[in-house]
Amino acid sequence: MLEARAAVRSLKEYHPPLGGRVGLRLDFNENTVGCSPRVLECLRRLEFDELARYPERESVERQVASHLGVDPAGLLLTNGVDEAIHLICETYLEPGDEVLIVVPTFSMYEIYAAATGAQVITIPAGPEFRYPSDAVLALATARTRLIAIANPNNPTGTVVPRADLLRTLRAVPDAAVLVDEAYFDFYGESLLAEVAKFPNLFVARTFSKAYGLAGLRIGVLVGNAAQMAMVRRVGSPYNVNAVALACLPEALSDQDYIRQYVAEVRQGRELLEEELRSLKLRFWPSQANFVLVRIGERHTAFVDAMRDRGILVRDRSGDSGCDGCVRISVGSNAQTKQLIPALREAVRAIAVAGAPA
Ligand code: PMP
Repeated sequence: MLEARAAVRSLKEYHPPLGGRVGLRLDFNENTVGCSPRVLECLRRLEFDELARYPERESVERQVASHLGVDPAGLLLTNGVDEAIHLICETYLEPGDEVLIVVPTFSMYEIYAAATGAQVITIPAGPEFRYPSDAVLALATARTRLIAIANPNNPTGTVVPRADLLRTLRAVPDAAVLVDEAYFDFYGESLLAEVAKFPNLFVARTFSKAYGLAGLRIGVLVGNAAQMAMVRRVGSPYNVNAVALACLPEALSDQDYIRQYVAEVRQGRELLEEELRSLKLRFWPSQANFVLVRIGERHTAFVDAMRDRGILVRDRSGDSGCDGCVRISVGSNAQTKQLIPALREAVRAIAVAGAPA
């Protein structure tokens, strides 16, 4: 009988709870108002020929490289950061190799790494979800081939100090270090400029978050040119579809739109954090477009109470160190105005419902 590889058979299943998402989408850290209208215009102007041909990535890659100020030879457009992670794992990992991941973090690092047969070693974050730099380096061995770090991290919104990232890069010259900057736009600090100095550094960015293009599936992986030549070998030449390639230059050229949206998210994040403080709920100050909040035992009731009020939020209580936690994404100013009173009411509703009779 046909059997999947052992590494695949023992893989965790990851089914994001997408079904029936009706309401204000504060559950997946997406852009909540949509992409630039210029991107939609571009979509409407697409001609049959652009769909009939196989997509050509290179000219768009040069534009993205120039936008980011990096060498185009070290840049690959990907089918979202998800594919970038997959390609790194396929390029560098062999069965028995070791991968270090600080948890809680984005699930796909562990899934793609484990699928290769590599051994994933998870390291719990320090107090306040800090990056445990010493613990990571203490576990690095000659078998360590990948360290994956989301910065800002998901689901915590916390960041790794630049000095810790550089220290990690220097300590493991024979391992790939993937710094996943999916939430860069809401943070503003990057390791991209270091790619020229560290041949083991890879930086990933996405157009799924601030740019509002999660459905188009488009991301970027940047690394040392010689390393990226290897990464390109394992990918499909047509990994990014023609529609995404046609829209990307338009999306990049409307930076005013991104600036405005990011400014609203940052204001909303502050208002949300202020409200959580006044509700005396534990949360972790975030540099991303979401905030992780500890609701406590009644986390499921809270998610339901928010849904009853037309707002979707994501239960993260199953993540390492996240007992009773829920993640709330932040959108536009108008949406934050809708969120705050709903949050207040939901917290009151679960407290009343949860009180002893
Ligand atoms: N990295 C992190 C840290 C994320 O949170 C996400 C999305 N949830 C991704 C990568 C995936 O991004 P993309 O849509 O570009 O595949």
